[in-house]
Amino acid sequence: MSLKLYNTLTREKEEFEPINEGEVRFYSCGQTIYDDLHVGNARAYVFWDTLRRYLEFRGFEVRHVQNITDVGHLTDDGDQGEDKVEKRAGELGLEPMELVETQIRRYFHDTGSLNVERQDVVPRATGHINEMIEYVQKIYENGYAYEADGNIYMDVESFAEDHGYGDMAKKDLDDLKEEARSRVEPDERKRNQYDFALWLNAEGTDHAMKWRGVFEIDGETLESVGYPGWHLECSVMSQKYLGDLFDIHAGGKDHIFPHHPNERAQSLAATGSGQAKYWLHNEFITVEGEKMSKSEGNFYTVRDLLDGEIEDEKVPEEGFSGDTIRMYLISSHYRSETDFSIDGLLKARKELQRVRKNVQRVKLSDGEEEIFNLEERFQEAMDDDLNTAEAKQVLMEAVGKINRVIEDGRSPKDSVADTLVKLFEVLGVDVEPESRQDREMAETLLEMRTEYRRQEKYERADRIRDVLQEAGYEVEDTGSGARLLQAG
Ligand code: AMP
Ligand code: ZN
Repeated sequence: MSLKLYNTLTREKEEFEPINEGEVRFYSCGQTIYDDLHVGNARAYVFWDTLRRYLEFRGFEVRHVQNITDVGHLTDDGDQGEDKVEKRAGELGLEPMELVETQIRRYFHDTGSLNVERQDVVPRATGHINEMIEYVQKIYENGYAYEADGNIYMDVESFAEDHGYGDMAKKDLDDLKEEARSRVEPDERKRNQYDFALWLNAEGTDHAMKWRGVFEIDGETLESVGYPGWHLECSVMSQKYLGDLFDIHAGGKDHIFPHHPNERAQSLAATGSGQAKYWLHNEFITVEGEKMSKSEGNFYTVRDLLDGEIEDEKVPEEGFSGDTIRMYLISSHYRSETDFSIDGLLKARKELQRVRKNVQRVKLSDGEEEIFNLEERFQEAMDDDLNTAEAKQVLMEAVGKINRVIEDGRSPKDSVADTLVKLFEVLGVDVEPESRQDREMAETLLEMRTEYRRQEKYERADRIRDVLQEAGYEVEDTGSGARLLQAG
């Protein structure tokens, strides 16, 4: 069996073959860091984390890089508008880097709650300005850039003649011309309106974040105090940490155009290599059919879900756990558009409780009964372009089967519990009940113990008492039944 991934570049599900055997180099586009993570962003990061986990499960050694954009992402396409970070910092009366520090802490807290492991390298754009300046120089020397008023633009037309440009987005230059006309206020410094900025001169603007760019243009030294175009950081940082050509590049669907074609064009222009072999894009989380986004204001932040700060009586007061939110996100395939709903989260919450109870029950049974070939079926689902929806279904079916086996008075092998925990872990969901010292779980166990004692199965009842003790609970038998005391 082999892993297949849908490559946007070829519009086909392709067999995954890494460039170097046994090793995967993987770059995903990360957060522009000026606001809290919403569920749409979370979908992207949860999926790239799931891909990394699955590749490791399949035995690959993975190097995962995901950037943080802290400069250069403008409010409007077409190199116009304000820097998103600066704009928000200004509204809050903060230094841009002060806002960035706060938001980075919040970002790692929120992604951490969703069990997104920190990537091997999390490079920040502001830390790589020198490399970006050198990179722009290389593109210029290779004949694919031009300068106007201290701005340096990618010459898309001359680049397209040599390398082609629109393959990822399936657009040709005429389409782009048309789009640029309808979207962008004309900038007479650009040779073609679809050209994009590599470096922008900050002189005469009130941009606060700027660096001294020194370029050799036409044999003369040009000094341009400014800032990089948004697409540049990913070309530069992916090359620095993963090399000219690496295996997988991932991002949201909105990156199919213009971000990824522009990254790829820069990389081809600078190094002659197309940056990555496989390009993966996740579909959107929507709200009533519209993309969840900050600019539309139709978003739910992960933090508000975790804190229960949602005005909806169905939302539990204590909020949703990170595991529940992750269970919800992996319940759909990353390439299917998913409309966000609180009902979906409530369903995921129930499913998670069901799995945890089940795992606990299996751990306490010492039977021989095999559940169907779980691992193989899980792998089959995940090999099919990371079909987490199907993989989860396989695991939930196993849970149902285990329950039926137990209800029939038989006992599953306790290794089934380990397999369930392990496979859910590949999906990034922690179904290990003890690790949480979960009161609710403890109550369930106590009920089971009472039941065993009623059936005079004292050995089993005592095992449950031991498990409870390990999880930090003492059992006290009183005249009116057993109760739990939290130890320590
Ligand atoms: P941004 O901070 O807007 O650049 O977005 C960060 C990441 O989240 C990018 O990979 C986006 O493609 C992705 N993203 C943004 N909104 C959504 C959404 N509604 N659904 C899925 N992914 C999204
Ligand atoms: Zn990027």
